[in-house]
Amino acid sequence: MLLLDNSLFFDTIGLKLAFTKESYNTIFCICKDLRYKITSHIMKSSTVQQLILELLREEHSHLTAQEVYNYLKPRLPSVNPSTIYRALERLTREGQVSVSDMGIGAAVYEIVGSLPHHHLVCQGCHRVIKLENNIIQPFFDNVEQRFAFQLTTNHLILFGYCPDCMDDKGKR
Ligand SMILES: [Zn+2]
Ligand SMILES: [Zn+2]
Repeated sequence: MLLLDNSLFFDTIGLKLAFTKESYNTIFCICKDLRYKITSHIMKSSTVQQLILELLREEHSHLTAQEVYNYLKPRLPSVNPSTIYRALERLTREGQVSVSDMGIGAAVYEIVGSLPHHHLVCQGCHRVIKLENNIIQPFFDNVEQRFAFQLTTNHLILFGYCPDCMDDKGKR
C-alpha cells in the first residue's frame, strides 16, 4: 500500500495549502482518487507477482491463469487477466513458478519449491500422482551427459493410465 501523508501528497503534486474549505474537500477528493490510481498502478507492477506467489504457496496445487485470476480478483478489483498472465510469465522466466501442460486444455502454474518434483497424469480419471525428483533426476543427468544439453524442464509430466483406469478399460 502506498501511504502518503496529505500534506506530503499535496507537496508532491505541487499544491500549496491555500484554498477554501470547499475547494480543500474537492482537492482532497481528487487527491484520494489519484492516490487510488497510483496505488492501483503500483499493485499492477509488483504486488500482483507477490500475491500470485502467496496464492500458489497456499494452494499447493496447479492452477490455470484463469483460476489465479478468479482467486485474486476479489483482492485486486482493478486487475485484468492480461496483467495476471504477464506476471505469471515473468515468474516463470525467473524460475519461481513452473508452467506445465497437464492435459486439461490450459497451462497450469505451480510454485517451484526447494525440491523439484514431477507428475504422472492419468488420462482416464485425470488423477495427478506426484513423482519425487530422485526418480527422475538420473534420467535428466543421463540426457544432459549424452547430449551435452542443459535441461531447463523442472516439472515433468508423464501421461498414462492409473491402475483403476486400466482395470476399467481392460487395457492390461
Ligand atoms: Zn507439480
Ligand atoms: Zn485413472
